[in-house]
Amino acid sequence: MRHKFLRSFLVVALLASNAFAQQPARTINSAPDAERLRAHVTYLASDKLDGRRTGTVGAEAAAQYIAEEFKRLGLRPVVRQSNAPSQGKEGKSGATFSAYAQAFPYVADVELGEGNAMSFSLRASDTAAGAKPASLDLRLREDWMPLGFSGNGRVDKAPVVFVGYGIKAGELNHDDYAGGDVTNRVAAAFAGTPDGDNPHGKFALYGDLRLKAAAARGAGAKAFVIIATEDIFKEDKLARLAYDNAGGDAGLPVIVVSRQFAAQASGRSLTELREFEKEMRAGAAAPRFTPDATLSIAVNVMRVERPAHNVVGILEGSDPQLKNEAIIIGAHYDHLGRGGQGSLAARAGEIHHGADDNASGTAALLELARLFVEERGKLRRSVIFIAFGGEEEGLLGSNFYVNNPAMPLAQTVAMVNMDMIGRLKEDRLLIGGTGTAPEWKAWIARANADPDIRMVVAMNGAEGKTANANGSGVEVPAVVGANGQMMATTSLRGRFALTLNEDGFGPSDHSSFYAKKIPVLFFFTGTHEDYHKPSDTAEKINYEGTTRVVSFVREIVRDVQASERRPTYALARSQSAGRATGFRVYLGTVPNYAETTDGMKLDAVRDDSPAAKAGLRAGDVIVKLAGRDVRNVYDYTSALAEMKAGEEYDVDVMRDGQRLMMKLTPAARK
Ligand SMILES: [Zn+2]
Repeated sequence: MRHKFLRSFLVVALLASNAFAQQPARTINSAPDAERLRAHVTYLASDKLDGRRTGTVGAEAAAQYIAEEFKRLGLRPVVRQSNAPSQGKEGKSGATFSAYAQAFPYVADVELGEGNAMSFSLRASDTAAGAKPASLDLRLREDWMPLGFSGNGRVDKAPVVFVGYGIKAGELNHDDYAGGDVTNRVAAAFAGTPDGDNPHGKFALYGDLRLKAAAARGAGAKAFVIIATEDIFKEDKLARLAYDNAGGDAGLPVIVVSRQFAAQASGRSLTELREFEKEMRAGAAAPRFTPDATLSIAVNVMRVERPAHNVVGILEGSDPQLKNEAIIIGAHYDHLGRGGQGSLAARAGEIHHGADDNASGTAALLELARLFVEERGKLRRSVIFIAFGGEEEGLLGSNFYVNNPAMPLAQTVAMVNMDMIGRLKEDRLLIGGTGTAPEWKAWIARANADPDIRMVVAMNGAEGKTANANGSGVEVPAVVGANGQMMATTSLRGRFALTLNEDGFGPSDHSSFYAKKIPVLFFFTGTHEDYHKPSDTAEKINYEGTTRVVSFVREIVRDVQASERRPTYALARSQSAGRATGFRVYLGTVPNYAETTDGMKLDAVRDDSPAAKAGLRAGDVIVKLAGRDVRNVYDYTSALAEMKAGEEYDVDVMRDGQRLMMKLTPAARK
């Protein structure tokens, strides 16, 4: 190695017992190859794969491609070949796929089942008045539609209560349900908020329909009716049945009705309805009244499951002991298909190519697999390569993996995630999770040091807070002059201009692993104007830059390999406390967003948070909060929306089959 002399000089002079001294010498290996990366990205982001939306043929073709690559490289499949289903009509490629693929449940779509019906009746007092019809059958698709997250069920002739926007916001002292009872009735509300469409208005967070439906359910309503925004019903986005893939059904029927029907039912013209909405917004009209009418509603929405897969390949370590530990390198391969949920495109229907997001990370994953296979003899720990599905739908694939791992999580020493690493610009690289193990910063600093002057020194108390697991201090990059004297720099400037973020939680798959107390790192070259749009295409990728990110990640993985000790899990400083909900109260919980109807599971609880002080723990399932039954994350969020900082609330959780009751005092979010 080029800097053996300087390194050993410093090891002798400065380091008594540094882990680094025990590292095996490194040899020059093959370099990451820009043309290989280009070939992977070009295929994955091609029109043929149709945007790789989870549950589609395009995503399955991508998974198949990755599985074939894993096989070609000689990675071990999760399913031993002998256990793989015998070769059927799909033949050899089908067998390869099923060996490397890890299927997870995925609701891709919703469809209308049989028996959706709705009718409206005026009560006797009104019909006696004459002109109006006594009852009205409403036409599905023309006058009303269930929403994708609606619960199934029926209500018969339930009185209707109009509840303004249907918002309950404790911290804003706003309650559209105040002063009246919706128990066993149908709550009806306008879509939107008193702010109109202002995304920065104080009510912006409360316009979420899931939240409104949860508020209606919490108030005792039997069904929740939303009045369309568009005059032409079929142009209203709520009138198109779609599933948001987020947390199960609402637990009560939730439907949208046309403005024509809303006008008719309230005895107004369309213009008068618009005027009424304006007056209500200005505070001039009462946001709450009970029309003298009843609704009967039957909803039957069917969930359509489609295949969804992670692709997992294992490269076994060579150390008889350490091979039972694994480092995971991951990247999600799914994207947004032709738009819809998550898309920022002006209109739906175009292929979202997802070259940077995340064909780039997937290509890097394949390239790292190739490179590590070449040096497999030097790998002491096993490396598990995972291409995740379902990331864009809410980290579904990684969430499934951590609950169904190929190697027990207790033996999983670290997870390195690459998501959008193809747009390197001005050498800017963002690394998340740097606070999740005390070892990371030194390894990052070294990997980032200029290769021509790279070495490691120990400086006790550097950065004033962290210390190595072995107590020898923090490793920082150093510059050494021609005379061998250290000129010293602790700057992280080197190969990349790094931005480090300590938090192990973030908007990609590493979050799922950090929630299981595994040290993580997340690599990202930054967002751009093509993010989540059809224009995120293969020719815009900086392939040379991506090879440099791949080299960087390889260095980090080599450091984990070289270290006798596994990285030490640490609770990282959060840079987004409470942002997950956006409300001003902060509990310090990390919810699990999987499908659920029997409570909200906590993936993690932040140390020293109000939730931790209340006695909540990771794995607890919240079933009741602040007097509200909690079936899923939306009920939970809805309860949160009504809570105030500094006040004490009851919280009930299920833990090991027992129901526990605790007291929780939310803090104000800073
Ligand atoms: Zn994305």
